[in-house]
Amino acid sequence: LEPAWSFLIRVRLPGGIASREQWLQMDRLADTHANGTLKLTTRQAFQLHGVIKRKLKATIQGINAALMDTIAACGDVNRNVMSFANPEESEVHAQAYQLAGDISAHLTPQTTAYHEIWLDEKLLVDGKKDYEPIYGDRYLPRKFKIGVAVPPYNDVDVFSQDLGYIAIQEKGKLVGYNIVVGGGFGSTFGVPETYPRLGDVIGFVRPDKAVDVAEKIVLVQKDNGNRQNRKQARLKYTIDRLGLDWFKAELNKYLGYDLEPARDYHFSRNGDRYGWVKGRNGKWSLNLFVEGGRVKDTDSLKLKTALREVAETVDAQFILTGNQNLIIANTDEKEKVSTILRKYGVWPIQLSGLRQNSIACVALNTCSLAFAEAERYLPDLMTKIEAILDEYGLLKEEIVIRMTGCPNGCGRPYLAEIGFIGKAPGRYNLYLGGNRNGTRLNALYKETLSEEEILKELRQLIAGYAKERNAGEGFGDFVVRKGYVKEITHGKEFKH
Ligand code: SF4
Repeated sequence: LEPAWSFLIRVRLPGGIASREQWLQMDRLADTHANGTLKLTTRQAFQLHGVIKRKLKATIQGINAALMDTIAACGDVNRNVMSFANPEESEVHAQAYQLAGDISAHLTPQTTAYHEIWLDEKLLVDGKKDYEPIYGDRYLPRKFKIGVAVPPYNDVDVFSQDLGYIAIQEKGKLVGYNIVVGGGFGSTFGVPETYPRLGDVIGFVRPDKAVDVAEKIVLVQKDNGNRQNRKQARLKYTIDRLGLDWFKAELNKYLGYDLEPARDYHFSRNGDRYGWVKGRNGKWSLNLFVEGGRVKDTDSLKLKTALREVAETVDAQFILTGNQNLIIANTDEKEKVSTILRKYGVWPIQLSGLRQNSIACVALNTCSLAFAEAERYLPDLMTKIEAILDEYGLLKEEIVIRMTGCPNGCGRPYLAEIGFIGKAPGRYNLYLGGNRNGTRLNALYKETLSEEEILKELRQLIAGYAKERNAGEGFGDFVVRKGYVKEITHGKEFKH
């Protein structure tokens, strides 16, 4: 007898867009093959949790039947490519989404092993070998993450990506992209040579060369990344080891042309904008809050049922955002969607500015790397913080709060104005000083705090913020200005 091994399956979804049929298939697979819930990830992908080993193959076949796959959703290759959540906001947004899909297709491994193992396709024989036009005979030294942002919104947290694109518009037309390299958040407690790092803007490229730039940056990393030490293998460490100037010169050599100087851009925020908006196609989209990205039914909230009913009865897309939320998108049936969601109490709902800007990774009891709770605990902790904010009249104040169960940083806690990283069950490091637009790392404020200590610290900070903030000043900006934490200008200065 074999133990009932339980697996997580991550489904690749470039730009996060699922059709209603795909949503329904994931909804069904969650019930029949997993733990009855869906996790919407911070990289606009689906995760199924609790898939036991003997159901793995059938689950992947079910995913394939809905024209999705799990190829390169994990591993030392390019991962799910993120883009601004709704391509129908404008032509530029549509082009950004198209770029995410093009890059994803270009960098997806070509191996037939996936199909042979999971989809029962015939084995390659007679010495025929897989041909990987980009990766060649070996994959990358480590995972590789790409995102495309359309200012003023930074919902993909473009500076957290190994490779980021910032769309540059002139008179409403896309003229190209600024290129950002060397972001990445994974780090390890007690290993100071590991650190979260924001990407550097290194230049500008025209749209027709954007995929070529992705390919060549991947190749520079493939040929120069550290293959001896996985904790030093991400592109951020290659750049810090060899120098940004070296990287730019090497990239220009691989490209055979130089990147142009970067253009001006401005980000206003990295959160989602909840509620209905009308797209350029005249259709409506509703950005819904999904706490912790978890789609499930509880006694008080039948979110999974509500979304299934929408998918069954309304012509709409389902777009996963980089903030673990969901957009019911591009529908003519605004009233019908509203009626269904209202029936289940899913929308409209009143949320504090804190909760609207919250992210939590999976952590315990699903992620084997977790030291502490995140998704299951952050909602309760926020309720207690909200009570303090309410006392000081700050309930509506938008504050970015993120929690992860370990320093790998899947929930991008290093950009939060209030960030928590689990150290042990019930104990968290508290990081302060990120901002609302995802352009500044936070810094360690206090270590290994219990809930009581967290609330005590936050009460003092919130009281000070209520009294002494400047007009329009964000919480993260306030704590940096007042010196509660030092501003970190490079990841190397970051301490856990
Ligand atoms: Fe797991 Fe750590 Fe990622 Fe959370 S941040 S999902 S605990 S690896």
